[in-house]
Amino acid sequence: MSFTPVCLPLYIAGEPLVTSQPLEVRYPYDGSLTGTVSTARHEHLEAAIQAALKGHAPLSRYSREQVLRRASLIFSQRTEEFARLMTRETGLALKDTRAEASRVCDVLHGASMAAMECDDATFWGDVTPPGKILGSRNRSVHVMREPLRLAAAITPFNHPLTQLAHKVAPAIAAGTPIVLKPSDKTPLTAVRFAETLYEAGLPGWMLSVLIGPVDTVIEPLITDPRVEAISFTGSVAIGKRIAGMAGYKRICLELGGNSELIVLKDADLTLAAKLACEGSYRNSGQRCTAVKRVLAEASIYEELAQRITEATKAFMSGDPEDSKTDVGTLISESAAIGIEKSLHEAIARGAVLLAGGQRNVALLVPTVLKDVPRDVPLVVEETFGPITPIIPVRDLADAVQYANSSRYGLSTSVVTDSMSQAMTAIRELHTGMVHVNEVPGYRLEQAPFGGIKDSGLGIKEGIIEAKKFYSNSKTYSLPW
Ligand code: NAD
Repeated sequence: MSFTPVCLPLYIAGEPLVTSQPLEVRYPYDGSLTGTVSTARHEHLEAAIQAALKGHAPLSRYSREQVLRRASLIFSQRTEEFARLMTRETGLALKDTRAEASRVCDVLHGASMAAMECDDATFWGDVTPPGKILGSRNRSVHVMREPLRLAAAITPFNHPLTQLAHKVAPAIAAGTPIVLKPSDKTPLTAVRFAETLYEAGLPGWMLSVLIGPVDTVIEPLITDPRVEAISFTGSVAIGKRIAGMAGYKRICLELGGNSELIVLKDADLTLAAKLACEGSYRNSGQRCTAVKRVLAEASIYEELAQRITEATKAFMSGDPEDSKTDVGTLISESAAIGIEKSLHEAIARGAVLLAGGQRNVALLVPTVLKDVPRDVPLVVEETFGPITPIIPVRDLADAVQYANSSRYGLSTSVVTDSMSQAMTAIRELHTGMVHVNEVPGYRLEQAPFGGIKDSGLGIKEGIIEAKKFYSNSKTYSLPW
């Protein structure tokens, strides 16, 4: 399929910025040029910060709602254009990028509704016994929300569009200007995203999008005292580095995961096999909440392994631009080689390969292994690819204990027909999210989303939580 490479600027407060230092993005499937984007220098960061802080009157709720709703509408008319660009940037199958492009409309629409919502609160003074506090019983305390002066968002490559929307849309809903630093691997989608928001009526000062050297642009963005909050999604290593550097600053970290699909003996095994495959292979397995290991009770273990193997064969990997392809490439050949090494190591340690295992440049065929030792890097570390390692467990308690021993705590799924087993899992798992009879990646845009332990600080995203994150609550009291 032909594709004309794009040559894009950055945007500083809505103004295009073209510099003489372009960054190239290449299609992971065949190495061809997808496009170039300018890169910023320190003075451009300074210009972005100053433009955001120039003393603009905050946007009214009505204006925020209008921009977000219009943006959602424009995106709904351009899903194919965005899907094709994302596929050329990442090698993700069009099936995945089409789903992502359509999901971004939901995020923007949800944020437009959130922009109109008001969670201001009132507390009356007559709730305490007379004489216990100073002041009249008639006094009232009120809480209102105010936008931050400036926030920064740093996003990963794996969902090149929704990751932007998950941060920028709630910031707009809150009325907070934002400097967006997208992944250097997927900057083209980010620039097109910003252009669409400007087209929908977002004032330039509300959004800058820039990439540039870590030492002169990105770290100064993180440490700048004028940036009141940082929202980061990415790897644990970079997230912790940013947390160390940010100092006295509000920070939201959405980091890596190692999600389990726990399958109990009373589970519907057809459903379990479907969830294992959908959870492991969608987005080429490159999701923070992808199924990274299947923990199956001994009595159904062999049967489940067989069903997952059969179901896996239906997932076609290959040309990402072929609409029939289910699984495209990983982000790069080196990422695929890294996973291949972990696979070989697991097999050398006793894991049995049931399907897949082949690699062709950045393409990794969906792969199933059983009898995977619990301590091999393939299942201890986050393996960001289309792999389903199956591990036997004695019972739910054993599965929970193993899951809880992980340094990650993002999302876990349990497949069972038993309400009491499901509730035990929900209570006992040390994780940010639990889903019953669904994939760990299940998400409603309004609901809180995020992890604990090395997966995050428990400060969650989701439109409503994120909107709060991008605002301050101001408490005031009145004598009436
Ligand atoms: P990454 O950590 O390599 O990069 C994330 C972002 O940080 C990119 O924009 C990158 O350019 C930037 N960055 C790199 N070095 C930096 C530095 N020294 N200082 C500041 N910024 C720096 O992550 P990735 O490979 O792009 O994304 C994959 C990771 O993201 C996986 O671990 C995945 O689990 C995680 N992720 C988490 C969630 C979640 O919600 N918990 C969602 C998606 C992805």
